[in-house]
Amino acid sequence: DEVIKKIAAGEVVERPYSVVKELVENSLDAKAQNINVYIEEGGLGKIVVEDDGIGISHEELPDALLRHTTSKIASFDDLYYLESFGFRGEALYSIAAVSKISIKSRVRGENNGYELIAHAGEVINLTEVGMAYGTVVTVSDLFFNTPARKKFLKSGQTEAGLIRQFIEKIAILYPGVKFTLFIDGKKIYSSAGIQEQLGLLTRFWGLEKGNLLTLEEKLGEGFFIKGGIALPPAGKPHRKLQVFAVNKRLVRSGILTKAIDDAYESLLPNGLKPLVFLEVVVPGTWVDVNVHPQKLEVKFMDEQKIYLDVRTIIRNKLVNAKN
Ligand code: ADP
Ligand code: MG
Repeated sequence: DEVIKKIAAGEVVERPYSVVKELVENSLDAKAQNINVYIEEGGLGKIVVEDDGIGISHEELPDALLRHTTSKIASFDDLYYLESFGFRGEALYSIAAVSKISIKSRVRGENNGYELIAHAGEVINLTEVGMAYGTVVTVSDLFFNTPARKKFLKSGQTEAGLIRQFIEKIAILYPGVKFTLFIDGKKIYSSAGIQEQLGLLTRFWGLEKGNLLTLEEKLGEGFFIKGGIALPPAGKPHRKLQVFAVNKRLVRSGILTKAIDDAYESLLPNGLKPLVFLEVVVPGTWVDVNVHPQKLEVKFMDEQKIYLDVRTIIRNKLVNAKN
């Protein structure tokens, strides 16, 4: 049983970055307006994600650590809820299995919050606490009971860098939410939370606004693309080249990568890659549900259609901009 728990956890919780990603997605699911992330020792010492979302009620708090019982699919509206990625109710369960976790939460209308503490998935305590509305999840000593996994991790700096990049990307995707990231006690990043996507994007890439070609197109019923493309500043190799989101989740997509590459065909000097932030919204039924357990790579039911539509719209934009 212990072993099964740890193996299951490994699928979802590969590294500190995956913990941050799952916790931040939960905060977004809870409709938070402000999300603060604190990392210590690259996340192995401590990860705290604090939000002002709807919270978890006293009665439901112990259930948050149970597997598959908490799926809230029915309560999300169409655009937000993604049948493609599913809410599988196993993130907190998996994180709890390989750490010491505290979940504090207070729902609107309650005079106080409650804190649930568990070590290696075993509940230790549930007590009343004073706190603001929302949820604070603290994950300490990640992988303390799976030393092999801990050993496998790269430096804390690598991990902190990954986490920072994730926060910057998700902030661009949700410009109405204010994200703040603290690493080892220092405030490293803060987004505006004022719907200013373009500003966040140019800051992400270190570009002037004028150098960005913006995209915002309706391609069909429930089918939109939005974002920006640009050329990298001369002589600067760029690590944050291409960011894709499908239905409000950051994803990898071979077909979107190819659509962009081919749209630029013969418009760029050899070897030069454009900077791309592309958000695609499609009807839920267009996305292939059963692809990657980590929900990173997305596949469309009709890959060819997505490829052609995206390539065409971007190609036209580029050609028009040139003339
Ligand atoms: P899932 O998100 O797939 O439902 P999780 O294990 O990530 O599963 O979370 C379990 C449940 O705990 C969620 O469905 C939600 O009800 C609750 N929850 C987790 N984090 C938060 C949060 N930050 N705010 C409000 N509710 C939360
Ligand atoms: Mg979740």
